[in-house]
Amino acid sequence: MTNSKAPTAGRDQQLLTPALAALIDPTDANDPIARQFVASAAELDLVPEDLADPIGDESYSPLKGVVHRYPDRVLLKPVLVCPVYCRFCFRREQVGKGAMNPAEIAAALAYVAARPELREVILTGGDPLMLAPRRLAALITALAAIPHVELVRVHTRMPIADPARITPALVRALRPKPAKAVWLAVHANHPRELSPEACAALARLADAGIPLLSQTVLLKGVNDDAGVLETLFRALVRNRIKPYYLHHPDRARGTAHFRLGLAEGRALVKALRGRLTGIAQPTYVLDIPGGAGKVPVGADYWDEGEGVVEDPDGGWHRY
Ligand code: SF4
Repeated sequence: MTNSKAPTAGRDQQLLTPALAALIDPTDANDPIARQFVASAAELDLVPEDLADPIGDESYSPLKGVVHRYPDRVLLKPVLVCPVYCRFCFRREQVGKGAMNPAEIAAALAYVAARPELREVILTGGDPLMLAPRRLAALITALAAIPHVELVRVHTRMPIADPARITPALVRALRPKPAKAVWLAVHANHPRELSPEACAALARLADAGIPLLSQTVLLKGVNDDAGVLETLFRALVRNRIKPYYLHHPDRARGTAHFRLGLAEGRALVKALRGRLTGIAQPTYVLDIPGGAGKVPVGADYWDEGEGVVEDPDGGWHRY
């Protein structure tokens, strides 16, 4: 269905860093980097299954900037701006809308401190690495000082979008004193995003002892190909990044042109099993629309009715 009304995105503007713009091949009408970041008329096509808040953040937000969906962890969104605006963003209605103020940050810290069941705080947004290193260090140090917080996880696109911003000061900000585990989850969707500059930035983080994970969004016309995914996941492992999640695309408004079916995603994941080392295999997950949570939706190998298991080459074995 086509709707002439423009998507009510929190950011309608196109934003692309010079580092990513340099990766675009202007001679390729289907360039996978351009497709992710250059605005397209297809975003004006709204379909009935589109959602303003596809993963239900609002329903699980007890106070501004906090999303508390699972018992042992909480999301904190200190800043809603990003170095780039991904056209498929699942929070495209929110990104671009500023940052939490000091009172809001203090309220969020008090919320975490008052709940001993919270073991992990996930800094997301927006991109938390948009904060100045001094502000990021203060936030991570404050979280690390809460005794029951065992882990701070930071979700970011920065090492790829603007590698020069991974400075020694920013790396130090990710290493609180006294020490507490800070993990970084890097968003990467196509092997070409791992430019020499991005790899050098990732090495600065890995050399500092920061554990690195990746998140990839499965996107039609960008990486919906087993060969592209294999090349990406192998490159991530070479750069000391454990592929963590492969996300089925969310139903954000104006992003139908990026979406593919679950069956197609499962077939791609199955094609990688056997031909790609287990270290490089992420979990294929779906965020159930509306906020019911994230679940694995990868291929099945076990047929309970028949009592048989399928091997990576498609042969069946009784077990
Ligand atoms: S970096 Fe993340 S939050 Fe920012 S626009 Fe891209 S997907 Fe959205």
